[in-house]
Formats: sequence, structure tokens, C-alpha cells
Amino acid sequence: MLNRIKLAPQGPEFSRLICGYWRLLEWGMSPQKLLTFIEQHIELGITTADHADIYGDYACEKAFGDAIRLKPSLRQRMELVSKCGIATTAKPGNPIGHYITDRNHIVHSAEQSLSHLHTDYLDLLLIHRPDPLMDADEVSEAFVALHKSGKVRHFGVSNFTPAQFTLLQSRLPFSLVTNQVEISPIHQPAILDGTLDQCQQLRIKPMAWSCLGGGRLFSDSEFQPLRDELQSVAQEIGAETIEQVVFAWIMRLPSSPLPIIGSGKIERVSSALKAQSLVLNRQQWFRIRKAALGYDVP
Ligand code: NAP
Repeated sequence: MLNRIKLAPQGPEFSRLICGYWRLLEWGMSPQKLLTFIEQHIELGITTADHADIYGDYACEKAFGDAIRLKPSLRQRMELVSKCGIATTAKPGNPIGHYITDRNHIVHSAEQSLSHLHTDYLDLLLIHRPDPLMDADEVSEAFVALHKSGKVRHFGVSNFTPAQFTLLQSRLPFSLVTNQVEISPIHQPAILDGTLDQCQQLRIKPMAWSCLGGGRLFSDSEFQPLRDELQSVAQEIGAETIEQVVFAWIMRLPSSPLPIIGSGKIERVSSALKAQSLVLNRQQWFRIRKAALGYDVP
């Protein structure tokens, strides 16, 4: 069974791996099929689901909610995460994509997510991307209002630099519980730019998105040396797939990131669980880093 982990000292408890629903519409599932998928990953111990208002051109949350509606009791067995703060051209009235972190927008977007997901609270709401026009006091006002009304239990950010995180935190009466960032062997900046150091310092756990490079890990020829090294390490540590090695490589980081799985195939989701029991030694970890970057440590 999958482990559970506290996101922060005062934060929620999530499953060690999370299911991400960005690509939900690509999976072409009926509400009944999706309900089965959700029940299957809950049975595996993956109880946390990652969403955002904009996923699927603002349609994924509703599709998920349509499945939950078929069995409302499932909500009590899950933790739901959503995000807001991006406005895309998919919405009429947005001739240009932009970021938006005004108080009213945050409150309205969270309320929309509740209605679409067919729930009356979110376990966690994130600001999706740093907004150059973000007024931290306004975001704080929105978060406090959503917290007071019981609509959102915890708050965090996504893709924030440590400075942006510190700014927002300085205005809040409660702790931000995560920074959701891209972490994978093929995208390593957060590992050394201070982002994960800040998480470790504050004892909060990052959430890791696109751990498999959105699938490019398997398809791009430039990653053949990485695939070869992952395969070698897989044999050494008894992993069945290179994905398991990637998830273990991410979980080996001392800030304990929670990988978000992007697959709609239950067998791939199920296979990822083995990663929690795989341990890479330092040399194996650095061999994967080197194979991805193409150069050794200085
Ligand atoms: P990912 O795991 O890097 O990529 C998932 C893609 O890889 C899917 O298309 C999947 O296809 C494919 N894949 C998985 N295993 C494969 C294999 N063995 N061979 C070939 N293809 C394979 O994750 P992601 O979807 O990019 O991101 C995961 C989640 O992170 C999202 O759902 C979202 O919740 C979150 N996210 C957050 C942000 C942010 O800014 N905060 C940004 C992006 C994503 P199948 O479905 O066919 O398995």
C-alpha cells in the first residue's frame, strides 16, 4: 500500500504519489469509465488528485465532477487540489493569455472549481504561476476569505521562485504548504536554484509535475543516453520500468517531493507505486543526473 505524507507541519496529509488530471480530456473517458479509474487509484492508495481551473480549456474539473457525482461518497476518501491565476484565450473575453491574481478572481475561480468538482471544499488551492502584477496583500485577502468560509483548507503556490514564495508568505496568517514545480531528470533547475532548498528549510514538501517530461522522456532521441542509464540503474535496484527509477530519483531528494503522475492508464499508475520502495545510492543518482545533462559534476 502506498505511504502517506504530511505536506507541511500544519499541512494536509496527501498520498505519497498524486494523480494529475491535466490530460483528462485526452483520455476520452465516459463519466463511468473515469469513476472506475478514480476508484482504482484510490484503492491503490493514491487519494490525492491534482487539478487546475484552466485544465482542458476550463473543462477538466467539470468532467471530473461529473464522475464524482455518480458516487458522491468518494469525495470523503480524497484530497482535491486546484489552482488559479492563469487566464487563457480559451475563455471568451480573453484576447490574450495573462496572469490574474486579483482578490475577486481568486475567490471566484475557487468557487467555480468547487462547483465543477462537485464538492464544497478544496483541500489545497495554489496560485498557478507567478504574476508580475501580483499584489501579495490582495492574494492574502482572498486566501483568508476562502479559509474563513471553509471553502479552502490549505494554500500554496506553483512555479514560484523562493523570493516570490517569501513575499506571499510574509502577508499570510498561516503557512503556505507547498510549491508545485517541474522536477525531472530532463528538467533540473529547481534542484539547485534554491527552490527545493527553501522547501527543505521550511519543512514543506514540493509537488513535482511532468516527472517524465510530459512523455518526452520516452519519445525524444536526445534522451537515449538517459534512457540507457535509467535502464542500467533499473536492473541494479530491481525496478521493472525506467519510470519507476525516475520517480525514485525524484523522491530521493531530501525535500521529499510528491510526484504527480500524468498517465490515464491505470497499469502505469499502479506500476509507479513500486518507486516508493526503491532506493538509489548517491552514485546511481548522479549517474542519472549526468546522463540527462550530458556533463559530469564540476
Ligand atoms: P508526465 O508523467 O511527465 O507525462 C505524462 C505523459 O507521459 C502522458 O501523456 C502519458 O501517456 C505519457 N507516458 C507515461 N508513461 C509513459 C510510457 N511508459 N511511455 C510513453 N508515454 C508515457 O506528467 P504530466 O502529465 O506532464 O504532468 C503531470 C501532472 O502535473 C498534470 O496532470 C498536472 O496535474 C500537473 N502539472 C502541473 C503544472 C504546473 O504548472 N503546476 C504543469 C504541468 C503539469 P499515457 O496517458 O498514455 O500513459
